[in-house]
Amino acid sequence: KISIFWFRRDLRLEDNVGLYHALSSGIPVLPIFIFDEGILRQLDDKKDRRVDYIHQALQNINDQLKSFGTSLHVYYGDPFKIFQQLSTEFAIHSIFCNRDYEPLAIKRDTSIYNYFKLYNISFKAFKDQVIFDKKDILKKDSSPYTVYTPYAKKWKQILKTEHYKCYKPDYSKFLKTEFKTILSLKEIGFLKTSILFKQPKLDKEIIQNYHKYRDHPALQCTTQLGIALRFGTISVRKCVALAIELNETWLNELIWREFFMQILYHFPYVVHQPFKAKYNAIKWRNNEQEFKLWCDGKTGYPIVDAGMRELNQTGFMHNRVRMITASFLCKHLLIDWRWGEAYFASKLNDYDLSANNGNWQWVAGSGCDAAPYFRVFNPTLQTEKFDKESLYIKKWVSEFETDDYPSPIVPHNFARNRVLSIFNEAFKE
Ligand code: FAD
Repeated sequence: KISIFWFRRDLRLEDNVGLYHALSSGIPVLPIFIFDEGILRQLDDKKDRRVDYIHQALQNINDQLKSFGTSLHVYYGDPFKIFQQLSTEFAIHSIFCNRDYEPLAIKRDTSIYNYFKLYNISFKAFKDQVIFDKKDILKKDSSPYTVYTPYAKKWKQILKTEHYKCYKPDYSKFLKTEFKTILSLKEIGFLKTSILFKQPKLDKEIIQNYHKYRDHPALQCTTQLGIALRFGTISVRKCVALAIELNETWLNELIWREFFMQILYHFPYVVHQPFKAKYNAIKWRNNEQEFKLWCDGKTGYPIVDAGMRELNQTGFMHNRVRMITASFLCKHLLIDWRWGEAYFASKLNDYDLSANNGNWQWVAGSGCDAAPYFRVFNPTLQTEKFDKESLYIKKWVSEFETDDYPSPIVPHNFARNRVLSIFNEAFKE
């Protein structure tokens, strides 16, 4: 008999809870990964940085597994069918993995769990990508928190060192197999991009000074660990341990991540709907031409354009600029936040359904603990505050301050009054 460890959002051998339990179970463990055909088919751009990143991370895992006399088995297809196929090839005792909280992942896991239950094969999922999940943090009346500050307070109150201890699996317990290379990117229908997988590192200097410089996009003083946390190439427990030692502001960001994850878990309707139903009444303008100019970074607002161009060229955008560009789309252009959310989802390297949805709804005002609807970021004032020398702008907008640079797509004051009147109107009904 064998056990299977199924890698998903936890692409590392080190400090991996599910893997630790699999290797401690006393049965040889076959490590696998499945490229989900259904998810990959939805990606229009075959030069997708995230797929390339995952592929490189898997290669890295496979290289490490070689020294333990085993190999990563990588499949492409429908996970349910792949598991059916695996159960004909191997005598499976148990399947181990780490929990995923997205609605579709929960559905997928439930169907695999139910199928194997019929054959007395257990499917065990562990908490690994967060410190607290499911019902770990609830209000006194057992309902989930929908406001960040009391959630974060409770999070810190109940945290014990055991919550962020490091798991050290015994790597000698893998099933010994012949070493083989993994499926190529081409075999799964994708192409190489410019992204380069590096073993993620916690930069102490950045974390120590995080609260001082984090809002200034030109300084690059945030950790850029989003993608590593998204795909689990770094352990969140390791991040939390260092945050506690070095910087509470950075710890608060990690708690925002968990806050939005539990919002998605408890209120899965937010994927398609505003958290606050009254936002359904807003009459978005949804002008397609203006949306295109926003996507391309041609709005005539330099900080907005710089952000969108950074996103398009690199797959990253600084948090302050994410807020400015998102606000600009919903408020200045009155375009439905779901359009912007979908565009970010297609481009962000660190794209995560819960964080992206939660932050878009925060900006739009429709979210659980959102910015008040009448807060309209003024791109010019934001630039004065956070990019005074226009260093960030100049980096991404080469034609800035030349005749080639477009004039503003809409005047700020006009846009501000327009959005306030449309929102007020919607909420009156
Ligand atoms: P750091 O500033 O070093 O923070 C460390 C980590 O904390 C981040 O990597 C991330 O995992 C977490 N974090 C920080 N801020 C937030 C936040 N506001 N919400 C949730 N988690 C946070 N973050 C994503 O991870 N994926 C997304 O798809 C995403 N979409 C966003 C969309 C909009 C409109 C906005 C305003 C923000 C979005 N964010 C998203 C949050 C935030 O902008 C990024 O996490 C951050 O910019 C990533 O940079 P960093 O890795 O250098 O993070």
